[in-house]
Formats: sequence, C-alpha cells, structure tokens
Amino acid sequence: MDFFTTFTSEEVCERYLIEVRFPGGMPCLRCGKKDFYARLKDRRAYQCKACKFFNRPTAGTIFHRTHTSLLEWFVAIFLVAFDKRGLSALLLSEELGLHYRTAWDMLSRMRRAMAKRDAAYKLRGYVEIDEMFIGAPSEATKRGRGTEKTPVLVAVSYVPVKGKEEVTGFAKLRAVDAINEKTVVDFIRTQVEGGAIIRTDGLSVYPSMEKYGYTHDREPVRKRKAHLVLPHVHTFISNLRSFVQGTHHGLAETHLQQYLDEFCYRFNRRHRRGEMFDRLLRACLEQEELPHSALAA
Ligand SMILES: [Zn+2]
Repeated sequence: MDFFTTFTSEEVCERYLIEVRFPGGMPCLRCGKKDFYARLKDRRAYQCKACKFFNRPTAGTIFHRTHTSLLEWFVAIFLVAFDKRGLSALLLSEELGLHYRTAWDMLSRMRRAMAKRDAAYKLRGYVEIDEMFIGAPSEATKRGRGTEKTPVLVAVSYVPVKGKEEVTGFAKLRAVDAINEKTVVDFIRTQVEGGAIIRTDGLSVYPSMEKYGYTHDREPVRKRKAHLVLPHVHTFISNLRSFVQGTHHGLAETHLQQYLDEFCYRFNRRHRRGEMFDRLLRACLEQEELPHSALAA
C-alpha cells in the first residue's frame, strides 16, 4: 500500500475508516438503516435518508471531537505502525507540524488502544518470567543509581520445537511499585493462563506458582548463566532497553506503563508488519474516546 498516494484527503480517510469499522456497511446510529445522502463537504457527517439523522463515522472513537484531522491521524498511525522502534511525541509533532502536547495526546490515545487490544489475550503454554528496572538517566545520575528506577515485571512465552531452538512467542510487561510475592502473583495470574508452564530464576521473591494452577520450573541461576536459563525473556529485555534508550532516552515513572504497552503491542505483532496499519487503525476505532482529564492522569 502506497500510503501517501492513497490517503490524499479527509474524505478518502473517512471512507477507508468506514470500510474498516463497518465491513457490512455503516448503519445509522438512530434507525439502523444503511442508506445515506452524499456527504456534505463542510460536515464530517452523513445524513440518513430514512430518519434524517446526521451520522459521524468517528462517533465513539478516539478520533471523535479531536481538533486533529483524520488525515493527520492516519499519518500518525502510519508512522507509529511502521517505525520499528516507536515514535516519540517530539518526532511526531515535528512530522505533522502539530504542538507537542497534541502529538503527545495522540500517541497516548493510540497506546491506550494498543493496551486494550493486548489485554484481551493471556500468555499460554511455556512462559519465562523475570524482572527489570527502568528509570530516567538524568535523574539517576543526579540522585545516584537505582533510587528512582521503577521495577517492571516481564513475561515472555515460547514454543519448544523438537530437536530445534525454542521459538519466542508473545510478551507482557507491567510496571509495579515493588517486586514482591503479591505483585508477582497478581501479574502472573492476570497475564498468564492457568495450566501454563512457568520458568523463573528461582530467586526467593518468586513464590511457588503451583498452588495457583501453574507448573513452575524454578531453575537455580547460580548453576547456569541467567541468559541461558531464561533466554527469551533476556533477549526481550535487551531489546526493550534499546527502545527505552534509543527512542526515549530513558523513561521516567510517569506514563511508563503506556510506553511498555506500546513496546509489547509492537513486539507481539512483529511477524505481521504488513498488516500493522489496519490493525492499529482497528484498535483505535475500538478504543472509546476519553475525556482529556483521563489522558493526563
Ligand atoms: Zn437513520
């Protein structure tokens, strides 16, 4: 798809949005019929022939009631979908010629849509679990290393292949206040399906997960190098570190989870890059609009 020659106007974007959102045709919000008058040029709405109601194809989505045009939204989704490392609000604001705050809001809305999509799935089968710490480097150098770093729990699923290397599957991330039995158990139970075979490094902080319906393989790290015991999670963590350093130059605790959600969403669809634009657009269409105050929270 040649993006920039396809999406040339607001109306083209709107038609595409309608196709993706309503594959069987857009129904009138009031009467359900699907027959509309031609779109008025100056109104982002289609009038129903039966009941005369003006239908806005973006109603109820994150695109609704924003001052940003659909064309700008489409470009933003395109850039976020195809940039391998993710996009900073600064870069997006420069690309689109928008205020930083507007670009930040757009990214924030997109990340919520991504998070909602991924929250619909749990990891299953074989899962490695570990933790890492993420912080902003400027703060870290000022106040001494480690003091303001946020613990992040990491889970990565994998598939054992007979006689070959295991294949890495999907990932989940959660920023927590502390790594302890409560946060670990809660993370695993909400992100990993019961019956899964869990592998951890055997540190005492990881409680036995057997009583929660998992098979738990606690391999003592001391005997082997950590990256050999948990290879999938360790590769994933090193990629995440590059993302944090490269794209964002470190991440402070504020809004950390939404950056993690974006990274996971991208990682979980790394083999479907060709479909990323449509997938992300669909995710955005399913994410309902939120008041501005909720975004700032
Ligand atoms: Zn109607």
